[in-house]
Amino acid sequence: MNRQSSSRRNDPPDEPEEARRQQLIEVTIDSLAEVGYVGSTLAQIAQRAGVSPGLVAHYFDDKDGLLEATFRTLARRIGARMRERIRLARTPRGRVQAVIDINLAPEEFDQRTGTAWLAFWGQVLHVKGLMRVQAVYQRRMLSNLRHALRRLLPGDEARSLAAMIAAMIDGVWLRAALSRWQEADSESARALLTAFVDSRLKKPTESQDDAPPATPPRLGASSARATRPRPASFKTINPATGEALAEIAIDGPAEIGAAVAKASAAQREWASLPGAARGRILRRAADILRARNAELAQLETRDTGKPIQETSAVDVLSGADCLEYYAGLAASIAGEHLDLGPQAFGYTRREPLGIVAGIGAWNYPLQIACWKAAPALACGNAMIFKPAELTPLTAMKLREVFAAAGLPEGVFQVVQGMADTGRLLTAHPQIRKVSLTGEVGTGKAVMADAAASLKQVTLELGGKSPLIIFDDAVLENAVGGALLGNFYSAGEVCSNGTRVFVHRAIKAAFLERLAARVNAMRIGDPLDPATQVGALISEDHMAKVLGYIARGKAEGARLVTGGHRVTIGDLANGFFVAPTVFDECHDDMAIVREEIFGPVMSVLEFEDEEEVIARANATEFGLAGGVFTNDLTRAHRVIARLQAGTCWINHYNVTPIELPFGGVKLSGLGRENGRAAIEHYTQLKSVYVAMGAVEAPY
Ligand code: NDP
Repeated sequence: MNRQSSSRRNDPPDEPEEARRQQLIEVTIDSLAEVGYVGSTLAQIAQRAGVSPGLVAHYFDDKDGLLEATFRTLARRIGARMRERIRLARTPRGRVQAVIDINLAPEEFDQRTGTAWLAFWGQVLHVKGLMRVQAVYQRRMLSNLRHALRRLLPGDEARSLAAMIAAMIDGVWLRAALSRWQEADSESARALLTAFVDSRLKKPTESQDDAPPATPPRLGASSARATRPRPASFKTINPATGEALAEIAIDGPAEIGAAVAKASAAQREWASLPGAARGRILRRAADILRARNAELAQLETRDTGKPIQETSAVDVLSGADCLEYYAGLAASIAGEHLDLGPQAFGYTRREPLGIVAGIGAWNYPLQIACWKAAPALACGNAMIFKPAELTPLTAMKLREVFAAAGLPEGVFQVVQGMADTGRLLTAHPQIRKVSLTGEVGTGKAVMADAAASLKQVTLELGGKSPLIIFDDAVLENAVGGALLGNFYSAGEVCSNGTRVFVHRAIKAAFLERLAARVNAMRIGDPLDPATQVGALISEDHMAKVLGYIARGKAEGARLVTGGHRVTIGDLANGFFVAPTVFDECHDDMAIVREEIFGPVMSVLEFEDEEEVIARANATEFGLAGGVFTNDLTRAHRVIARLQAGTCWINHYNVTPIELPFGGVKLSGLGRENGRAAIEHYTQLKSVYVAMGAVEAPY
């Protein structure tokens, strides 16, 4: 959390005094984090805040007063989060879990907040004011724990277990802080405490439907699974190194049944909250995602092979943007009023669907999970999400983020497995909708399975999109667009403009600049911030991409650059393919017709507008399309005739959350993002209200 953003958030516009107090408190937290208790003097804090020491004294009297107010603010924040989580918990066990989760939430392990807390801990015994705040904070935690535990255990046992849990929370946190967060992180600390509580209550977490799942050490999908014999599992590997990252248990019919039962109860409660309350939780989740950007981007890079410079700038943050966007919309989801004359009126209610399933592809695992979960939850649904088997890790982190933000247990669940697990979701009669991101073939299978229970579907499928560059385009921008539309994420992007139609008059110049920029791209270790091209997702996928490159050569396309696997040094252990450009391509070549989903660009020549529109549309896909031209009217004229769901003029592949995203023809059904997604996660109820007498003809 940075100072400006947090003080801005706390600013009541009509209370400048309070805003100034809050600003000074945030500056104090920064100061404690950087120079500690002793170094944080009134003068130093005033200087940091750009005000006079007299002004600080005016608000807080002295250093102790300022520090007490700061401590009180931190304690109050945690208290408010705890109250909200406890309020949402449905069982005593859930309330105990709320205390654990909130006190050991990732924010409390964040360097800045954590170090400030540590400074207070060091001073509590010496400063009366701090001791008072500490006593209140401890009393509240203990009484919350005792109150919940008394429903589960006899009085004495409840009291002693409450004291143990409180001591463990403080102890685990303190050890982590003193080891500078090396010894434990939020996730493992919560897993430890959850396992301890479960063992003391002698009931596994799975039988307590309100208890958020304990995260089994680092890997598992749910605590429920950690305690039951695993039917089967799969390994996920780092495609840049071949290193195994985790072994994941596969969810079968019993687990899917349990997830649906849990979601069913949770969804009713979730849907009954006002939209604004749902929005608050989503917004908090967005904040937590942003705060954890570095860590999550790293995990995403290791699981997908994508460069850290991409995952840290896009994957996590765009997920957070999505959560924030739907957080804002949650309170405004509404039906309409219809005037039916003096004797009646009608209205519509926009209601959630119930339990919905999300099934994700492997190219943007966390972002896809957010794109599906955010609108679904904003509308009051519960979501069961299955990530792709190749990238199972960050969806589990998202579940953890939601829990820390206060989302009631069961509203967002993650199940793991392959197509069979996906099928269990599409076939389940209580699941009312499936939103899939995947291949066209998978989309057809999902739609066919969903038909048995008449589920709604949103299908975000593959593409082979055209990017048209006219001779009046700004050349450097057009080259930039083609690079973004072909080589970002090593070309593993559904909307890529892989058929690059370039006007004959500028093709030679375009290819020259393109080759120069492609040859300067840095292929390497995805965790190196300088790397621009990482690994492909798997060995099989690399073989598929190399197969297409071989077909391109065999069919007579001219290789401009790339066209091979990269095995320099350590890259030999991973699945790296050089960005590849083919020229002299024809519309009937396999590399031009079929989706490759790798770093392979086909350049095609054209001469006139009519011709290029016809060729651009001559595909069964219709996901995206782009035009580069300086002619304003031509830009809109051409875009209007492209058979594609998502288009760009003078740019490519930017996907702001406000704009609906999706395909036509075989590229999909329905839309994600924007207000449009609200319609796909709600159903309308029409209500007729009579104002007069009922006239029956009998
Ligand atoms: P797949 O279609 O192979 O898989 C997508 C998901 O569906 C995976 O979680 C998969 O599980 C699951 N699945 C597979 N078969 C079934 C089934 N019969 N019933 C239910 N679930 C099933 O796609 P990829 O993961 O290979 O992703 C690449 C594809 O996704 C490309 O075609 C790409 O264009 C498309 N895509 C589309 C986007 C869009 O927004 N339009 C965005 C990103 C990608 P498992 O992985 O375990 O097999």
